[in-house]
Amino acid sequence: MKWQGRRQSSNVNDARGRGFTGGRKVAAGGGFGLIIALVVFLLTGNPGVLTGGLDNQNIIVPSGSQQQAQYEPSQREQQLFEYAGVVLADIEDTWNTLLPKEGKQYVEPELTIYSGMVQSGCGTADSGVGPFYCPRDHSIYLDLSFYDTLIERYGAKQGDFSMAYVIAHEAGHHVQTILGVTQQLDELRQQAAAGRLSQEEFNQYSVRFELQADYLAGVVARYMAEKGYLEEGDLEEALSAAAAVGDDHIQKKMQGYADPDTFNHGTSAQRQRWFMEGYKAGDLSGWDTFSNPI
Ligand SMILES: [Zn+2]
Repeated sequence: MKWQGRRQSSNVNDARGRGFTGGRKVAAGGGFGLIIALVVFLLTGNPGVLTGGLDNQNIIVPSGSQQQAQYEPSQREQQLFEYAGVVLADIEDTWNTLLPKEGKQYVEPELTIYSGMVQSGCGTADSGVGPFYCPRDHSIYLDLSFYDTLIERYGAKQGDFSMAYVIAHEAGHHVQTILGVTQQLDELRQQAAAGRLSQEEFNQYSVRFELQADYLAGVVARYMAEKGYLEEGDLEEALSAAAAVGDDHIQKKMQGYADPDTFNHGTSAQRQRWFMEGYKAGDLSGWDTFSNPI
């Protein structure tokens, strides 16, 4: 992707080296202190540790941690940081252009880049969770080490555009939140929790929801292509990343077999397909993964 010298979004929070105090400040006082929304939207169905840590007495926040601690990224990591800022700027341009056509105003999300551990509006998360979006504070959370994880652990192809896919997918969850789809999934989640919907049925909705985020990532890639920002190999890198985070691929890698009833993000083939559907359409015309066959 052609990114050097281009605009970086001003919505990036640098929370690296800040331990538990990254991200946007979220009011945890009043009666809401203990009610933490733990629902976040991940890139993969393979979460690490996420806890409602805002009031967790076991967490000791080092004094003075509000200030930026000494964090010295490698040159490569700093490049990735700047790259992520340019990707976010393209995401903003895409949705600032497209959402008004749907009669919706786009509220730009934030991107919090952290290292190791972060306190999000949805609880405390470690890097093992992978990239995620918290609808409560409208922020995407990303530890840049995920780039290596994607390649080394999940087997994606080398290449910067895999990270563009990752960020655009999480930003897709933000679009879903603006358009009310996230809230509909939350209702289904509550039905499942109350036993009115089986977990398997809920998983099928979850897959459709995640494939929709992949579609929305494809729409962003199309916008970048039309602006002349894509380079040869970029789409292949995105498709390789989409395949790497497919449920069947991850499950076979981690446990040796795939159990379709537990899929909640879609197979590699589905994730690639819906990314490309979004890329081909370049708008929301084909985004209904809930009514259409997936
Ligand atoms: Zn997702």
